[in-house]
Amino acid sequence: MMIPCPRRPRLHALNGPQPRRTFAGMDTHRLRNLDRPDILRAKLEREGVERTTLSFYRYVRLKEVESLRHELYQEWDSLGVLGRIYISQEGINAQVSLPTANLNRFRAALDAREAFANIPWKIAVEDDGKSFLKLAVKVKKKIVADGLADDAFDVTDVGEHLDAATFNRKMEEGALVVDMRNNYECLIGHFKGAYLPKADTFRGAIEEVVKMLEKKRRSEEVSKEPEVLLYCTGGIRCEKASAYLKHEGFTNVAQLHGGIIDYARQLKAEGLQSKYLGQNFVFDERLAERITDDVVSMCMQCGTKSDRITNCHEATCNMLLVQCEACAAKYADCCSPSCREIHQLPIEQQRAWRKGRSTRSTKTKAVNDPEGLRRRIREEEELLALNGTLHPQLTTVNPHPRTSA
Ligand SMILES: [Zn+2]
Ligand SMILES: [Zn+2]
Repeated sequence: MMIPCPRRPRLHALNGPQPRRTFAGMDTHRLRNLDRPDILRAKLEREGVERTTLSFYRYVRLKEVESLRHELYQEWDSLGVLGRIYISQEGINAQVSLPTANLNRFRAALDAREAFANIPWKIAVEDDGKSFLKLAVKVKKKIVADGLADDAFDVTDVGEHLDAATFNRKMEEGALVVDMRNNYECLIGHFKGAYLPKADTFRGAIEEVVKMLEKKRRSEEVSKEPEVLLYCTGGIRCEKASAYLKHEGFTNVAQLHGGIIDYARQLKAEGLQSKYLGQNFVFDERLAERITDDVVSMCMQCGTKSDRITNCHEATCNMLLVQCEACAAKYADCCSPSCREIHQLPIEQQRAWRKGRSTRSTKTKAVNDPEGLRRRIREEEELLALNGTLHPQLTTVNPHPRTSA
């Protein structure tokens, strides 16, 4: 079911009536899914078909990306594809799920386009088929928001691509393994002994890695440049990272081809031993897929061993955190007593409270400072014990105040 985009009337009010853009005689406005998440989730539950989650990317010159975007949306929508696709003049980066029965047709649709012919895809190993709720094809400036000035270095001069077996062997031979993901991705799983950046952006991570390697180079009396092995989720960030490191003068750079996602697949297919520990952070509803049973992280609220990654269920907070089952029960799936208090209000009161509030971008704060989060929780518990509420202003938005016992 399509519902009209709530933004349209406002645009009209500001700019006057807009001519309706059309694509091949179709209202392009309809080439979007605007259903609410809960409706989409229910629809997916009812669907009852087996789905496969897969991802692919390619750096390739694309022309007329706007109309390509509409073509892809129509074509893939008709194949039951859900997911998040970025296209730009520099290429495509896609994470999708689709009915397993349509895999061959989807392959044929990709191969029929010269730009996407034989594009390698990676199939997720742990998959309940509910990784995406809708299809979103977005035109972007870049297919990865990397913050790097591409014209300053040769993005095609990338490191050697390694398969899982070779990556393992080189690790055993003592190569330096570097995680090219952000701090919150490394948290719940990473290669054994890897350098894990503290930065929470790709650009920050790459600058940190350059500094680390330069320091290493200065401090060590080495006749030969040590081999650097890069890895990331699906391999795409290592394309840029390895080119950048080479540009910075690090010549002995290799990268895990297909990233952790394909590493996991190769482990299974070839019966290899995993040198990756724990879970792989992914950018869909699942948040993570398990590679091994190792638990490499701690609950950010109580400090016990846990790699249960989740978002605070209070909608304006949404903070990403590692939370054990016990804390999830204690804090009602929220990051703090304060969010719990809002989350446990009747839905109309929650709506009234949220009105006019922006969604805070707290995604990484707990990762950067779990001790800070625990301190905040302790302070809030004390206040709560004292006042019975952490949101005294709630009474002003509350049409029917709860009577205290
Ligand atoms: Zn806990
Ligand atoms: Zn929260």
